[in-house]
Amino acid sequence: MFSNKEEFKQSFIKKLEMTYGKSFEETSNEDRFQTLGQMVREHISENWIRTNELYRSSKTKQIYYFSIEFLLGRLLSSNLLNLGITGVAKDGLEELGISLAEIEEVEADAGLGNGGLGRLAACFLDSLAALNLPGHGSGIRYKHGLFEQKIVDGFQVELPEQWLRYGHVWEVRKSDLAVEVPFWGKVESYMENGRLNFRHVEAENVMAVPYDMPVVGYNTETVNTLRLWSAEPSPFPIHSDVLQYKKETETITEFLYPDDTHDEGKILRLKQQYFLVSASLHSIIRSFKKKFSHIGDLPEKIGIHINDTHPVLAIPELMRILMDEEKLGWEEAWDITVRTISYTNHTTLSEALEKWPIRIFKPLLPRIYLIVEEINERFCRHLWEQYPGDWRRIEDMAVIAHDQVKMAHIAIAGSFSVNGVAALHTEILKTREMKQFYEVFPEKFNNKTNGITHRRWLLKSNPELTQLINESIGDDWIKNPILLSELEAFRDDHSFAAKLMWIKQQKKQALAKRIEQQSGIKLNLDSIFDVQVKRLHAYKRQLLNVFHIIYLYNRIKEDSSFQPYPRTFIFGAKASPGYYYAKKIIKLINSTAELVNKDPKVNKYVQVVFLENYRVSLAEQIFPAADVSEQISTAGKEASGTGNMKFMMNGAITLGTLDGANVEILERVGDENMFIFGLKAEEVMRYYLNGDYRAREYYHHDKRIRQVVDQLVNGFFPNSFGQFEAIHDSLLAENDQYFVLRDFASYADAHEKVAEAYLDRDRWMKMSIINIAQSGYFTSDRTIQEYAEEIWNIDKVKMLH
Ligand SMILES: *Cc1c(COP(=O)(O)O)cnc(C)c1O
Repeated sequence: MFSNKEEFKQSFIKKLEMTYGKSFEETSNEDRFQTLGQMVREHISENWIRTNELYRSSKTKQIYYFSIEFLLGRLLSSNLLNLGITGVAKDGLEELGISLAEIEEVEADAGLGNGGLGRLAACFLDSLAALNLPGHGSGIRYKHGLFEQKIVDGFQVELPEQWLRYGHVWEVRKSDLAVEVPFWGKVESYMENGRLNFRHVEAENVMAVPYDMPVVGYNTETVNTLRLWSAEPSPFPIHSDVLQYKKETETITEFLYPDDTHDEGKILRLKQQYFLVSASLHSIIRSFKKKFSHIGDLPEKIGIHINDTHPVLAIPELMRILMDEEKLGWEEAWDITVRTISYTNHTTLSEALEKWPIRIFKPLLPRIYLIVEEINERFCRHLWEQYPGDWRRIEDMAVIAHDQVKMAHIAIAGSFSVNGVAALHTEILKTREMKQFYEVFPEKFNNKTNGITHRRWLLKSNPELTQLINESIGDDWIKNPILLSELEAFRDDHSFAAKLMWIKQQKKQALAKRIEQQSGIKLNLDSIFDVQVKRLHAYKRQLLNVFHIIYLYNRIKEDSSFQPYPRTFIFGAKASPGYYYAKKIIKLINSTAELVNKDPKVNKYVQVVFLENYRVSLAEQIFPAADVSEQISTAGKEASGTGNMKFMMNGAITLGTLDGANVEILERVGDENMFIFGLKAEEVMRYYLNGDYRAREYYHHDKRIRQVVDQLVNGFFPNSFGQFEAIHDSLLAENDQYFVLRDFASYADAHEKVAEAYLDRDRWMKMSIINIAQSGYFTSDRTIQEYAEEIWNIDKVKMLH
């Protein structure tokens, strides 16, 4: 089908006309997308079957990556790329008068995630397959992914996302592999052969139906599987009200929770979590038992990785299977469980640490709760032996305390590996947030700095830059991105710099065109494109960015001799629908944009754009067009960040705090190739410990700050009366928890340095080249290689011919 252009064209037209029963000319882009998608899936199927056969017959260890989110984005272009058939498809379609790019635009993003955590899971799948590693994803097939964002009158409005409206061409429903997941009911004990056994009775069963998606490796025959579970009513409900039961069941996988930074204490969320792990473990153990006879061999053959604490119930659920179904004793079951499970921590924000009230947990999952209680008791006893009499410590570390189940504590006690996602984050875990656990289990803690798949975030999103790199250093770097460092040889090469600048300009033009089409704003293409795209959260400090923009506005208005280098500030961010404060910040950005953009005196120097509905497919157009990458979180708060890596790989220069992976970017590029500002993590910590930060002092002593803070509430923003009081309060009345005022001066200075550096274009291009050259370390292939060697202990598989 894809071996050459002619054959491709013929099969495409034939399939298109046969499927839709109209002539080729009459078919729509939707028809064409579906047809091409089906052809690609058929093309994948042979290797998918072969990979699965290999996994069934070989005895090598398999990894299952459990994640409540997979933020996949579009898959047509990445599948074409990984299969090496982009050229055939593009050229063939072109001869038929069809643009591949236009067809790609038809595909809905699979937006089954909030942000960084879900996108990391998607990048990891891509890397596992590319590296021929036997690793699969386990997740939930939400009927609606993250909400679609509209901006109406400057406010965020949320619409239900509809990625399945026209079906999903990449998924295969496997009805025959459905399993039952029990909720509610009660636990009965009984004696059998002199052993006390437990069983879960009178449960309300929900049917979990798997939908499999192929995960195609780049330039290899490996096709792994992402299995997403959908909740459906069981064919044999015990429920008396069948309609009610059906509705409750389908609700389980209806929506993705639109928040990744708060512990969502909702019973439905706990249902989702158990649904995911119970269904996944059921099918994993089933296939394990077909291949192996000793359940004790599980840890040698299966690894289960839990992405943050959402899938933590995998630990008590595996215990349940081993004890209640496999009839092992506690000690043996625990040993197997701990050796099977590994855990990644994603945050140090205490409001994000998941806790479940017993009154919710216990009735919903009665057998699992009993096991958690036993885990708690044994764990506390173990602690007592190590710290006799230290009640305080035991209470802090217990799995159940104050009528709550602490998911992170189960994760640490019940796994053999606990990793942070950037060097600084892991250090903070060990020395602060999880210090007491580190003291008990030092051997479990390790760091795996996050990464991004360079295939999507460079090859796919920036083919022009990819080609320039290939022309300069060959294409070995694509298999081994650390070789991008060979670009260092071009740091002073004017011809390379000129080409790089031209590409950046093309990408800025393309983004500007899209912005003009959508919002009518015409951007100055000679301005610095200064970009902050990420979830809206107080700790990420979009507020600091807007503050600086309002300050620039004020200065331009007041001082006509102030003529700063033109800048375009671009934002993209979704706020969780219930996060009142974050939504106010969105409104503030939009109110500022309105003021700035329509003021002829100001808009020569400053423009502000808020891009609606930030998501993976939009992100792919943004990173290549950025000059400056805003990574300005309060130090110590951003576990890693991955947006920072995507910008860097596309030649943007980071303006950031020493937080998350920014620290490691700095280590690689040096401080002459990055703009670092603000408090360091230890300084932030010291303020918290001593309680001696006084936001008001910064308000009183810096008149730039005072002016902007006052403008929030003094009628400066037309038609926004009373709108920004909550922001004003957070800064003064609540003493500015995220140190926006404290870091303002340092941030404004850094911005001046950015403009100065940009004026010297040779210097800027050199910085850009060095950033690209040093970005290879941040490929998720490196990250996954480290997980494979240092945590999972798995080997590459080789397809036999
Ligand atoms: C990479 C990415 C993120 C994570 O961005 P951070 O800046 O690391 O928070 C969030 N959303 C999307 C769509 C992304 O592609």
